Amino acid sequence: MRQGASFDVLVVGSGAAGLAAAVSAKRAGARVGVASKTTLQACNSAKAQGGIQASFGDDDSPAIHAEDVMRSSHDTADPKLVQILTSEAPSAIRWLEELGAEFTRQGPHGPNGQGHSVNGGYRLARCGGATRQRLLQVGDRTGHAITKALRDTYEAGRGVELPHHALRTLTPSNGGWVASFETKEGAADVEAATVVLAAGGRCFAEAETRGELSTNHPNATGEVTRIALDAGAQTRDLDALQYHPNGGAWPSTMQGYSIPETTRAYGAVLRNADGDEFTDSLGARDAVSAAIVAEVEKGMGVLTPDGRPAVWLDTTKISPEDAAISLPYMLRRYRGAGIDPLAEPIYTYPVLHYQNGGLVIDEHAETTLEGVFACGEIAGGTHGRNRMMGNSLLECAVFGRRAGKAAAERARS
Ligand SMILES: Cc1cc2nc3c(=O)[nH]c(=O)nc-3n(C[C@H](O)[C@H](O)[C@H](O)COP(=O)(O)OP(=O)(O)OC[C@H]3O[C@@H](n4cnc5c(N)ncnc54)[C@H](O)[C@@H]3O)c2cc1C
Repeated sequence: MRQGASFDVLVVGSGAAGLAAAVSAKRAGARVGVASKTTLQACNSAKAQGGIQASFGDDDSPAIHAEDVMRSSHDTADPKLVQILTSEAPSAIRWLEELGAEFTRQGPHGPNGQGHSVNGGYRLARCGGATRQRLLQVGDRTGHAITKALRDTYEAGRGVELPHHALRTLTPSNGGWVASFETKEGAADVEAATVVLAAGGRCFAEAETRGELSTNHPNATGEVTRIALDAGAQTRDLDALQYHPNGGAWPSTMQGYSIPETTRAYGAVLRNADGDEFTDSLGARDAVSAAIVAEVEKGMGVLTPDGRPAVWLDTTKISPEDAAISLPYMLRRYRGAGIDPLAEPIYTYPVLHYQNGGLVIDEHAETTLEGVFACGEIAGGTHGRNRMMGNSLLECAVFGRRAGKAAAERARS
């Protein structure tokens, strides 16, 4: 066993949550290390396309955002965490902008040329379960833009990177923690006063077990949750896994692709074999997924050319202008596969996507283990048993920032 480095704050995971925690801990003066199972770039966060929620709308507020989260979660979310998520959303967006993320803007001035800013100047879309337009986007590569900004900021400082470090165990030691990793050179121990667990969810591994498709990156395997459980941490809602209503079902190269929910925000509707819109296309995720499955079970679905169950997502309703601004990546992917979503509807069916529950955390993102913090998809409570679109990237930014700061402060005490 090699003796590795020693840190004030060790962050496990290099998605949006881990990077936000690392930047925040470093800014709070801590010696920080970021460990990641493979490269720092490999994560679910970078795959996120649709956007991130924050209440910038002139008719919106953090309180309305919080009501939408609680309703979408069927009142299973932790109201204290939801209040933090929604009230800190606008400042988290400003923070990400300061670090280099450039959210799509629209019409910097209000109507009538009066010079006031509408919706903070942002292009906002309404996502499933939301009562207001609240989704900020960076085209349809929002997760890529956010993780790149965070990673560039972290790499510009003196923080240490530990790629190809897969966490295997976490053990208390001398008032801090020892993390044992598997590396390319064999096992290595790393000491840290505090640890931030930001290793994401488990839907890639879960889909393999179920023999289903998943939107997730192959690193989303969930062993860090099990490691925390072995160390004595508490979890909640771990059984609540979310299906993305709109998995790509055809062509085969798009199977497992998550068609951005922004397609529906910009006018696409779900249709059955008869061409009827059979559900509220902008309902909460669990409701829309259940409606698609029920429609197929009733015999009102369609079959893909390779015999998979599906319904139609009528993307021909999206205006070319909206598509050019907010869906260029999706259009490129489909057109590259020989289908133009603006000219014909596309096949879709729900696909395993997100781990709603996870490690129990308090308002500083501390788990039930002293000195061990958790943020992002690995943590539970913020979304209860049903997450709204656009609130995961937000959770990464808001609670990643909190976790990093609190972990740095605790390491000093
Ligand atoms: C295709 C897709 C589209 C999405 N679109 C949106 C969207 O538009 N808006 C939104 O809000 N959310 C979206 N989501 C959800 C959101 O992107 C993720 O839930 C969120 O980014 C998770 O961030 P994270 O930092 O918690 O985890 P991840 O980004 O998954 O990062 C986990 C990190 O932990 C590392 N890791 C895992 N195991 C270990 C280990 N044993 N040791 C060391 N490191 C480990 C991984 O390598 C990785 O670096 C989308 C997700 C997907 C897959």
